[in-house]
This record gives sequence, structure tokens and C-alpha cells, in this order.
Amino acid sequence: AVSTRKMKTMSAGELEAIEQEALRDYEEIKSRGMSLNMSRGIPCVEQLDLALGVLEALHARSEFANSNGDDCRNYGVWNGLLEMREIFSELLGVPADQIILGNNSSLQMMFDTISQGFTHGCGGHTPWCRQGEVKFLCPSPGYDRHFAVTEYFGIKMLPVPMLPTGPDMDMIEELCKDPSVKGCWCVPKYSNPTGVTYSDETVRRFARLHPAAPDFRIMWDNAYCVHDLTDEPAELLNIYDECVKEGTEDQVIIFASTSKISFPGAGVAALASSAKTIASLKGRTTVQTIGSDKLNQLRHVLFLHDADGVKSLMKGHRQILAPKFRIVLDALERELGGLGIARWSNPKGGYFVCLDVLEGCAKRVVGLCREAGVTLTDAGATYPYGNDPHDSNIRIAPSFPPQEELRDAMELLCVAIKLAAAEKLLA
Ligand code: PLP
Repeated sequence: AVSTRKMKTMSAGELEAIEQEALRDYEEIKSRGMSLNMSRGIPCVEQLDLALGVLEALHARSEFANSNGDDCRNYGVWNGLLEMREIFSELLGVPADQIILGNNSSLQMMFDTISQGFTHGCGGHTPWCRQGEVKFLCPSPGYDRHFAVTEYFGIKMLPVPMLPTGPDMDMIEELCKDPSVKGCWCVPKYSNPTGVTYSDETVRRFARLHPAAPDFRIMWDNAYCVHDLTDEPAELLNIYDECVKEGTEDQVIIFASTSKISFPGAGVAALASSAKTIASLKGRTTVQTIGSDKLNQLRHVLFLHDADGVKSLMKGHRQILAPKFRIVLDALERELGGLGIARWSNPKGGYFVCLDVLEGCAKRVVGLCREAGVTLTDAGATYPYGNDPHDSNIRIAPSFPPQEELRDAMELLCVAIKLAAAEKLLA
């Protein structure tokens, strides 16, 4: 029988018994020859099927003109279809004429924004590449690809702890006194991977931020703005409105996409900001491309109609995702509850369960799972430079596997956590 006493209070004999049992269970699970990749938060087939209507929305005899009469099959409309910008406008709370549509990836729009700051400067200031060492604030654990973008440009990353209310704002306000700090990554709603939604106070403190650097940018990646999993959706204050009140609206750039609404890699991405910042980004985007893919935007408009259309589609996603999150949380509670060797989030939305195992055990746990056929996100990936100072954070992405496989993977993960904890405490 599994004890629910805290493992840290157990005698060596008791720990050895747990270690032996976990090892037996581990070998048994390993012998099943599982093969499952859970490293990224990607939608499952059933979720992708929900958006098949996108593909059916256009056909050879379709009406290809938008409300302005532009033919979507042709060049033109540098900032994308108004109808699609209006959908993002409702979702993000920024006027449609302050939105630029991209192609299939908001991450690419973030990369391009950083790239522009690096080579050409932000808001007319000296390019970051000519300012010596420049730095970015990285609330951690966070989204590994944000960190990859800043690392690619050699921008020094400063980790900032995530609290239940969002990033540690005392620390951010302090670090912003350094003029070489040029920006901050944010996933303000159902954050990747913590699931945290920034509190109203956190959003207001971002809006009130007066960094020493005049070319500081808040990269507000609202990737999970409509990705609720419960009847009590988190409410995120509109950063743009708060910034307007404070006169800081040029400082924030908001990103989103339909990647986890329609198709990852084949959806529509968007960027929103103040009129002034949009004008400065226009100067680059109109050199970069004659225009984004309006046919894909038109397909999305015909399928989604409006923000309500998006919200009702997201209910379908929730029906598929919520039971998978339940499987993960039930397994963690059943197998590890009370042992004092793991803590985990219970997110109200987004794509991840955020797990912290005993300090120094995350790499071992992820390695054990990999050896038994289940690939998790690399331990450390959620921190700048892949360096989790406590080696304790693990990101669980429940969306992709079918429920049965997810149950097996969780069985393996829990056994691996127990085994690694016993080894650690006995060492
Ligand atoms: N931002 C966050 C926080 C994400 O988690 C992801 C995907 O996992 C993305 C952006 C990628 O978005 P896109 O597909 O629009 O590039």
C-alpha cells in the first residue's frame, strides 16, 4: 500500500521499500514498450477536426472580395483583412486599425519585432545591436521559444520568478531602472506553463511601468486568450486600456493567433499596439512582404464569423481537453498526494499542467520517462538558457495523447517521480 506520509519524514528503510516498489513498477511499465511524444502542447486530431470548416469555407465559385472590394486572391491590404482584424480587435480589446495580421505564426511576428529592435531600433532609438549588452526580462518558468528568440540575438536573459499573480513585479520594477533592459516577455493569460493569469494589479503595474530605457517593449503574448477549461474563466484586464490611461501605450505590443483555435501552423497571427508603434512596425512589414495570406484570413472569417464564433468553437476544444486535464490531475493526486515530493498547478485554461518535483530531480524524472518511451518537454526548457536553477520544473502537455495513452503516461510519470525522490532522499 502506498503511504501518504511525507517522504522526507521517512526512515531509510521505508524509503528503500518505496524505491524497490517504484523500481519494480517502472520496469513493468517500461516493458510495455510505450512510444509517446508529449513534449509540446499541440492539439489532438479531434481538436483539429473541429476546424475542418475552415477548409470548406472557400471553393472555386466563392466570393473573393472583402467588404472593401479588395480581391483576396491578389496582392494588397498590407495589414490584412479588416473582417479578420475585427475578430482580433474584439478578442484583444484594441481597435482594428491598430492591428497587423501576419501569416501562420505569432512567434514569427515576435521574432521580427525583436529583430527590428535589434537591427533598426525601437521607436527611433539606437538599434539594440549598437548599444552594447542589452537585456530582456524573462518571467520563469516561461515559454521556451520566447527564450530561444532572445538567445538567438544574443540578448542577455534575466529570469524573474512567477508568482500566483504573475511575474514578480517588485523585481521587474527594480530591474527596469537599468537602461540596458529593453523588454519583458509575458504570457498574461493561462501562462505557458504555469497556467497563471496575471492579476489586475500586475497588469496595472505593467501599464504604469516607466523603464529607464525609452526603447523598452512589453511583449504581451496573449496566445491563450480564449482557451478556457472551466466554467470560471480567468479574466485578464485589458493592458491596452490601462496603458492608454497611463500614456504608456507605445510600450506594449500584443500578440495572438488562431494556432490553437483553428490549425497550428496554418492559422492567422496578429499583432496589436498603439497607432504610433503600429506605424513604426509598418515601415518594416511593408518592406518585408507585399501582404499576408488574405485567402487564409478570408477562410477564417467565413468559418469563425466573429468573436462569438471563436468562443463557441473554443467550447468544443474545452470538451475534448478538460477530461484530459482531469486525467493528469487525478493521477497526480492519487499517486503523489500527501507524499510531499511534488506540487502542481490546477489551471483554469491553457495547455499545460506545471509540475514541480523535489529539487534536483526534474532531469532524472524526464530521463526515466524517456527511457520508458514517453518524451516530456526537456527539464529546464522552461527557463532561460535551459537552466532551471532548482532542476525541479516539468511541463506536462495533456492535449495530444488519446485518453488511454495519457493514463499510461501519467502512471509512468508518477512512478518516475517516486523513484527519483526516493533515490534523492537516500543519497
Ligand atoms: N506563444 C505561446 C505562449 C505559445 O505557447 C505558443 C505555442 O505553443 C505560441 C506562442 C506559438 O504561436 P504561433 O503558432 O502563433 O506562432
